[in-house]
Amino acid sequence: MDGKTVAAAGPGASRDEPVLDRLGRRLHDLRISVTDRCNFRCIYCMPREVYGRDFAFLPRGQVLTFEEIVRLARLFAGEGVEKLRITGGEPLVRRDLPDLIAMLAEVRRIDGGPVDLTLTTNGSALRSLAGALRDAGLGRITVSLDSLDEETFRAMNGVDYPVSKVLDGIAAAREAGFGPIKVNMVVRRGINEASIVPMARWARSEGHILRFIEYMDVGHSNGWRLDEVVPASEIVAAISAEMPLEPIAPNYPGEVADRWAYAGGDGEVGVIASVTAPFCGACTRARISADGQLYTCLFAVKGTDLRDLARSGVTDAELTDAIRVVWSIRADRYSELRSEATADLPRVEMFAMGG
Ligand code: SAM
Ligand code: SF4
Ligand code: SF4
Repeated sequence: MDGKTVAAAGPGASRDEPVLDRLGRRLHDLRISVTDRCNFRCIYCMPREVYGRDFAFLPRGQVLTFEEIVRLARLFAGEGVEKLRITGGEPLVRRDLPDLIAMLAEVRRIDGGPVDLTLTTNGSALRSLAGALRDAGLGRITVSLDSLDEETFRAMNGVDYPVSKVLDGIAAAREAGFGPIKVNMVVRRGINEASIVPMARWARSEGHILRFIEYMDVGHSNGWRLDEVVPASEIVAAISAEMPLEPIAPNYPGEVADRWAYAGGDGEVGVIASVTAPFCGACTRARISADGQLYTCLFAVKGTDLRDLARSGVTDAELTDAIRVVWSIRADRYSELRSEATADLPRVEMFAMGG
């Protein structure tokens, strides 16, 4: 979209009004991918057979600079975004990431308050970076860990990476002052469902908030099948059999994880049931890929190029109008329409879009 098209289309409503999409959803969260690269090759995300040595990742000139990222974050915050999540690929492989965090920590919400600044990582570089990230103003950290069982985890991350190093990264995050730490575990039938209860036991004893994620048909290279999804209900039942769980209210409207508290106290677990109980109706999330494409759904086929628009010299107001136009015509609700058949449709990979 160029500046002129944007001006002609207009944002629909007055710039003072929060922009709503076609299903009446606000724009509240922004996920920013800072790189499409990763040092892992998780079987459900970047399988090694597809993302081998020859795979062409984005050349540096196509990746947003820190200044470009911060400009977009500021404009999104001006449109009502209150939560920024830094992701990738693996965000910690982006050079000088703490510098970006320090710049983003200055972004203000419409009401003048600081944005909620969070990061999702595979944890492998936390030992060296957690302190600098904390000092830079990062608020919270989520670490992905799919099993405590050595063989299972090494097979799932695709690069034979040991569990102990991720645990050490989590320890480093805690030493740096982060907490409670969230831990994401993707559950795939036949691969790691035996790890559900041990992971719950461990997270409970460590005081981490564990969040189980139903295996999703993101991208098109993981060969997803519906029968490989372990439903949230089954996950909750497995834990409850040993450690009874009670449902608790969401922290805020539209929170994606269903929360469950241990009946005996000591914390909670979350379950993200994107396949068996889709939450599109409350989805207030936009994504910007490392090369500046704006996506309004994790399952999008196409984004809107904000990078070239920004680089063409448009004003902040013009760029804001472009964002408002994209959001105002958004009608995505893929997870509510999902079936075995839709899994074969073309779409952008999660690591490329920003998971
Ligand atoms: N590399 C970082 C990490 O792994 O935490 C951040 C990016 S990763 C794409 C973000 C999250 O998406 C991770 O928690 C990962 O487990 C999850 N994820 C990736 N592929 C998935 C899939 N097919 N289904 C469900 N979750 C997935
Ligand atoms: Fe890398 Fe995260 Fe994808 Fe695993 S889930 S391959 S760590 S981007
Ligand atoms: Fe949001 Fe798209 Fe996921 Fe639905 S499928 S919850 S619209 S990202």
